[in-house]
Amino acid sequence: MSKVKYYYDSETLSYKKIEQKKGRRLGIILLSITGSFLGGFILLMIYLNIPQIETPKEKALKRELQNMKLQYGLLNKKMDQIQDVMANIEDRDNNIYRLYFEANPIPEEQRKAGFGGINRYKDLEGFDNSKLIIETTKRMDVLTKRLVVQSKSLDEVAKLAKEKGQLLAAIPAIQPVNNEDLSRIASGYGWRTDPFTKVKKYHYGMDFTAPRGTPVYATGNGRVVRADSRSTGYGNHIRIDHGYGYTSLYAHLYKYNVRRGQKVERGDVIGFVGSTGRSEAPHLHYEIFKDDKRINPINFYYGNLSPEEFGKVLERAQRENQSLD
Ligand SMILES: [Zn+2]
Repeated sequence: MSKVKYYYDSETLSYKKIEQKKGRRLGIILLSITGSFLGGFILLMIYLNIPQIETPKEKALKRELQNMKLQYGLLNKKMDQIQDVMANIEDRDNNIYRLYFEANPIPEEQRKAGFGGINRYKDLEGFDNSKLIIETTKRMDVLTKRLVVQSKSLDEVAKLAKEKGQLLAAIPAIQPVNNEDLSRIASGYGWRTDPFTKVKKYHYGMDFTAPRGTPVYATGNGRVVRADSRSTGYGNHIRIDHGYGYTSLYAHLYKYNVRRGQKVERGDVIGFVGSTGRSEAPHLHYEIFKDDKRINPINFYYGNLSPEEFGKVLERAQRENQSLD
């Protein structure tokens, strides 16, 4: 029911009905329908355009996100540089350090291996920036692992270097008597004429001629295992155990300067040249054992010989002369 409206007629002094015209009413209805549609349309447009309309907080968050992406990009560039440096260190490690100390190079796959098994990046999934964050994290993880592998490798190299240092200090490497002009080498290792029987006999050491009392040096670090004359033919002699399977022997000594069990270093005076035992004249008979077998001492003077000097020593040692025994 539509409301009936009245007005006060001052002439008749009574209320009269306001008669509404039919057409005007229809117009109002049409106008309100059109208005509703228009209003709805405007609201729809506003709704569709919401992404363009941001609150200050949204604007700030967006700026922060852009900054984060930029920083991730910079971090990745820095990681590129670190990766290059790392690759260079790994290359030197494999081809210089490990090679020098006879350790096998660490294969690329082992150095750059990722992490198998469970997905370590599950927590990072499901965000707009997941790919960027996961890729960066993965690179960082691989880099961290490479660092750990490299660090362990250097520990190993340091240990090998220390051992090699000890090995080099222990193995005989100098001549057992002072021999600057190299004229003291009287006879080498190999077939020589026996000074007493004059028949060919294998000479298992090197003879250095020197006046009685000339100092005899330990040729490498080690421990004196014998200093006595209870070995046939050698007279007063000393044996030094150098470890690593090496032993050196110094025979026909005039006097000892060390006792059994004593630790010696390369260059220490251990005794003095003499002619005790089966010896024709004062000289030092010098032998080197490797795993209890006598080997040619000629290869154990590298510590104080130049290549030219070594050539001279070799030439003198190879002369098929008579040994002094
Ligand atoms: Zn000899």
